[in-house]
Amino acid sequence: MGRIYNFSAGPSMLPLEVLEKAAAEMTDYNGSGMSVMEMSHRSSFYEAIIQEAEADLRKLMNIPENYKVLFLQGGASTQFSAVPLNLMNGSGKADYIVSGMFSKKAYAEAQKFGDVKLVASSADKNFSYIPEITPDMIREDADYVHVCYNNTIYGTKYPEVPNVGDKVLVADMSSCILSEPVDVTKFGVIYAGAQKNMGPAGLTVVIVREDLLGNARKDIPVMLDYAIQAENGSMYNTPPCYSIYISGLVYKWILNLGGLSEMKKINERKAAALYDYIDSSELYKAPAEKKYRSMMNVTFVTGNEELDKKFCKEAAANGFQNIKGHRSVGGMRASIYNAMPEEGVMKLIEFMKKFEAENK
Ligand SMILES: *Cc1c(COP(=O)(O)O)cnc(C)c1O
Repeated sequence: MGRIYNFSAGPSMLPLEVLEKAAAEMTDYNGSGMSVMEMSHRSSFYEAIIQEAEADLRKLMNIPENYKVLFLQGGASTQFSAVPLNLMNGSGKADYIVSGMFSKKAYAEAQKFGDVKLVASSADKNFSYIPEITPDMIREDADYVHVCYNNTIYGTKYPEVPNVGDKVLVADMSSCILSEPVDVTKFGVIYAGAQKNMGPAGLTVVIVREDLLGNARKDIPVMLDYAIQAENGSMYNTPPCYSIYISGLVYKWILNLGGLSEMKKINERKAAALYDYIDSSELYKAPAEKKYRSMMNVTFVTGNEELDKKFCKEAAANGFQNIKGHRSVGGMRASIYNAMPEEGVMKLIEFMKKFEAENK
């Protein structure tokens, strides 16, 4: 069997070139006589891998010198606790915007650690939009403001960086990191699980401004302490070695394409083709409000559950897999992350047209 078009929301597709390179290096990495999975994380081979991965990520995202890059474990969900434990250290207050299931979880978790305010939510319309905020909605003494930048389940995304005035902005970018350039200087912390748009599960990248370090709660578990992780170059313990290696190959793949501005152009073409077709069709509808549509997760429905089921079944049989929507939205979701080739999106559109013609 050849490779399928995998529209999974995560873990998701990786670039074929990356997989082939990893396969070629599987049993003997760079003359070391062993695979990356087998080598000490303290070896000179591995040191070069992690240092290059960090340097390439810094180059790609244009991360300033006064930010630390941490390669951690525990998934984005661990950051739901790590963020308050590290940052809720002034007034003990934090403000959250809830735009989907993951930000709702982050908001719930933070409540264990301090005084958490719900600033705005789009729950009233099943998270089909991003609630707009203005700086006056944020508490004057809030230690930080938390947002989820791309809502994987609902297919929405912040069209621009929300204005939180001079407050520290924390963003969960798990499902949109590296999809387009972002101005890192507008954020205090950016975090992302790797398994959507970066690499295999097991790695979580945290990008944190240096002045926010060293002020964590005294009872913070050591593994969650950004300052300790930064001091130890993400090697307080064994890091997720292989996931970092693969993510490093993905960084090089994007750099070779021309970096994030080129990546964005490709992603815009893919998303526009799919949304344009959905908008022109009589069968499919996109539940997300136009202004807030995600470039990575395209949700659509027929309005008929049976027909949605039939669509997913026939799509899978035709090589378009994992296209079933999350149960909280229903219908379909095509996750078209960086590694989904343009051809995969074009072929999906062809299939959708055929399905529409057959099911009028
Ligand atoms: C997938 C996802 C998460 C959860 O990530 P884990 O690494 O599984 O903990 C959190 N936030 C967003 C936006 C996601 O897409």
